Amino acid sequence: MIKELEALGEVVLHASLRNLNTYKIGGTAKVLFSPHSITDLVEGLKVIKKNQEKYFILGNGSNIILNDREYNGVVIRLGNLCGIQINADMQMAYAEAGVMLPKLVKESVEASLTGLEFAYGIPGTIGGSIAGNAGAYNSCIMDYVTSVTVIDENLDIKTLEHEEISYGYRTSMFKENKGYIIVGAKFFLKHGDRENSLLMMEERRVRRLEAQPLAYPSAGSVFRNPEGDFAGRLIEACGLKGYQLGGAEVSTKHANFIINKNNATSKDVYQLIHYVHDVVKEKTTVDLKVEQEFIDWE
Ligand SMILES: Cc1cc2nc3c(=O)[nH]c(=O)nc-3n(C[C@H](O)[C@H](O)[C@H](O)COP(=O)(O)OP(=O)(O)OC[C@H]3O[C@@H](n4cnc5c(N)ncnc54)[C@H](O)[C@@H]3O)c2cc1C
Repeated sequence: MIKELEALGEVVLHASLRNLNTYKIGGTAKVLFSPHSITDLVEGLKVIKKNQEKYFILGNGSNIILNDREYNGVVIRLGNLCGIQINADMQMAYAEAGVMLPKLVKESVEASLTGLEFAYGIPGTIGGSIAGNAGAYNSCIMDYVTSVTVIDENLDIKTLEHEEISYGYRTSMFKENKGYIIVGAKFFLKHGDRENSLLMMEERRVRRLEAQPLAYPSAGSVFRNPEGDFAGRLIEACGLKGYQLGGAEVSTKHANFIINKNNATSKDVYQLIHYVHDVVKEKTTVDLKVEQEFIDWE
């Protein structure tokens, strides 16, 4: 299998995943595979399936909690799928799945297109952000997506129009159904004023810097906000701000962030998330739902 994958992309055996996720935790991947192109990804998937290996698509690792042990399969990274096309006259942009969302925001704003500024501070790839329908400031990425190109379970490449895609608050059919791999997406934007957009992005960057513990590794908000309330408010009200377990800590700056304060292990983060959940449930009866995704913990 390795020889076949090597012909289709970069392959690293027993690759450390620690620097490939924003918590900076996790063990290794038996095989880390970065296909050269979409066609090579399809061919690689054929090889992986033929060999009955399990696989997982890793974006920028900014919304996941990896395990400390080795992932016994193939972790696929789409960093080589990094093309962006912007057509200002048509008010549209197309980005491949491995493009970082802030890069697409910057390039569309440079072309005087507006819409995606809300996403400037979200450190995810296009693929991961569509899968989780990333959002901020009452906007979400699916508001701007006109179509998504995927590889389906039969390894066919198809384009799904907006109407064919189901999504909700921080979720989509791609997150629920792991059979789809997003390879690119088309966005509908509007003509805007570049200076206004840059100003908005800068204001929000400063706001994030003030409100979020960006000096430490984390994966953003741990829990979804329950209807009519804020997870951070509930966690703070339960006296959990600053609570530490091993190297992981409930941020003193924003209680809905767990940070890797001091060489935290995956287990530290995992256990702290469950502890916070249980304390909040016991004290307030609110059953917080984890927004981040546990990978390979079963
Ligand atoms: C400091 C900080 C601030 C954040 N702020 C926000 C915020 O304001 N709003 C917000 O919504 N999120 C926020 N996040 C969380 C995170 O950045 C987003 O959820 C982001 O969109 C995740 O993208 P990713 O590429 O890192 O996905 P990953 O974490 O790598 O993966 C997430 C899921 O998507 C799947 N996936 C990845 N790529 C593909 C693909 N090509 N096809 C199919 N499935 C795929 C993975 O398998 C996994 O199930 C923040 C995170 C941090 C660290």
